[in-house]
Amino acid sequence: MKETNTSQSQANWSIEQSSELYGLQRWGEEYFSINELGNIAVHPQGKKDKDSSLDLLELVKELESRNLQTPILIRFDDILEDRINKIHLAFKKAISDYKYPGKYQGVFPIKCNQHRHVVEEIITCGKKWNFGLEAGSKAELLIALSLVDNPKALLICNGYKDKRYIETAILARQLGRKPVIVIEQVNEVERIISASKEIGAAPLIGIRAKLSSDSSGRWAESIGENAKFGLSIPDILVTIEKLKKANLLNELKLLHFHIGSQINDIAILKDALQEASQIYIELNRQGAPMGYLDVGGGLGIDYDGSKTATAGSTNYSLQNYANDVVATVRESCKEKNILVPTLISESGRSIASHFSILIFNILGTSSTPSNIPLTTGSECLPVHNLRETYHIIKHIIVKDNENISSLQEAWNDAIKFKNDALTSFRLGYIGLRERAIAEQLSWACAKSILTTLPNKHLFSEESKMLYSSIANTYYANLSIFRSAPDTWAINQLFPIMPIHRLNEKPTEIGHFADLTCDSDGKIANFINNGKSKKLLELHKVNYNENYFIGMFLSGAYQEVMGNLHNLFGTTNSAHIRLLKEKGYKLDHVVRGNTKSDVLKAMEHNPKQLLERLRISSEKAIQQGTLKIKDAQRLMDHLETSMHQSTYLQDQ
Ligand SMILES: *Cc1c(COP(=O)(O)O)cnc(C)c1O
Repeated sequence: MKETNTSQSQANWSIEQSSELYGLQRWGEEYFSINELGNIAVHPQGKKDKDSSLDLLELVKELESRNLQTPILIRFDDILEDRINKIHLAFKKAISDYKYPGKYQGVFPIKCNQHRHVVEEIITCGKKWNFGLEAGSKAELLIALSLVDNPKALLICNGYKDKRYIETAILARQLGRKPVIVIEQVNEVERIISASKEIGAAPLIGIRAKLSSDSSGRWAESIGENAKFGLSIPDILVTIEKLKKANLLNELKLLHFHIGSQINDIAILKDALQEASQIYIELNRQGAPMGYLDVGGGLGIDYDGSKTATAGSTNYSLQNYANDVVATVRESCKEKNILVPTLISESGRSIASHFSILIFNILGTSSTPSNIPLTTGSECLPVHNLRETYHIIKHIIVKDNENISSLQEAWNDAIKFKNDALTSFRLGYIGLRERAIAEQLSWACAKSILTTLPNKHLFSEESKMLYSSIANTYYANLSIFRSAPDTWAINQLFPIMPIHRLNEKPTEIGHFADLTCDSDGKIANFINNGKSKKLLELHKVNYNENYFIGMFLSGAYQEVMGNLHNLFGTTNSAHIRLLKEKGYKLDHVVRGNTKSDVLKAMEHNPKQLLERLRISSEKAIQQGTLKIKDAQRLMDHLETSMHQSTYLQDQ
């Protein structure tokens, strides 16, 4: 910690305490830590030496000087590259450890992050591994076909397929690409057969199996017999017969399964792997050449670092995952004396989560004033009672859990007296001023209790009320519907924390409210080492200084699932690459949507909107209600604003 800064809050707080509080050392892996200035340090290459680290606060400020204001999505392409290397190295190690006589060849599922710069980066970094892509729609297939020109890289074609999708894939094979059409629906086989006949060429074919293994967690229902995709065992047998008859069985090379995203419990994966291995072996015995086993996505992220089988975590590491895939498949094939397949995984979340951080600023806070209002002489009874209760609380000393019950009683009293005050107000017995004093005193009671209690030993349910009674709302320059939709849609927890002032004790607790007018537009659920908590420890926002918050591990799924609720558009985004010597390079910048962009997306015509306002302002000038100078000022604001970001900004 800096010696020069001797303020009170820094004196009794360390960066280690911040790291523990926000769980940074648990979820940050090798990419994030706190530097001696109390700012988040990013280690894009996973190395902690100073030259290959960046101060996140400094970076945000430098981006601001380039007119790239928050909210901004910062993408560290080095991290993306590192993740791609890590997954390949994990499989390489497992293959060597278990003496697997085959190889691993992954693909990236485009749906996880379709942004051009992201997909291009993945292809460039993955080239040395012959890393391919997985497409789940015709549009994604277009990306896959045109961006991957490595003839060894696989293009896995999933999703619903019509005639054109299938024909495109068949023809792309002749272009020198390696598309595998995965049959996911019973009727797709007919379409493949007729397209092959028509073109006079065959595609590489895969089959997606519906597994019977039980799953747990969010996506439990997306597998098993009622799953949306995949063939049941009877369907698989019928499909094989059809392929045989059409002379296409020789092209059946791949078995695919996907048991849902973010598998929390490795036991579920093991069951699925065993079942899939047996199906693979049977397909081979039925005369299909096979060669590839595609274990789908699902490789999870430890969002809270608790290493548990809970929603925001996983009870396994990347290496455990690779080991289990390799070992299980090898075991099954060895027993049945069948050549092992090339292993494919479609890991999206695991590759794309870490590299992107959403940074937003706080516009202000609403807090509960809990200073003690002066006595006004004669006070109404509820206020008088609250004041007494406050003094009682002040004098309770808690030692070794003694006197906790007295605190509890005092708090119950405080709640009762506050309610008395509210009732009196409703009935017209007391005025606004007295009601304000009563509320303030009750908050003072809550604060006093929370500071009195030792080591967060809080009395059960009441503690939640205690906390929420003094919680602050931090107004975030952000739309969660645009930038963090899963926090709202599926209650996903991302690590969220301030990116600076981490050598200062966070004295406040609060949650975030976003810019939208939607009451759901808030973040009020935070990681808590395997559990969750409704409030986050935060700092008081300093006057004239931005308070920046980072949402980490957010590179998978959030951007494309985000929407234009309240017409908040995309945020700015910047791609950062470390330079060999020192410092960084701003590789790509994508400016966020302007108001004009989002209006057009809803079929409005920005020019026409402005023109209408111009006509109205001319009318007002004629009627004498608006001066020409002010009309011009209004039009200037409107025109400038049209070309600016949809978020709040200083200028
Ligand atoms: C979504 C999806 C994936 C990616 O899953 P992750 O959990 O992000 O790795 C892979 N394969 C298929 C078929 C998918 O639908």
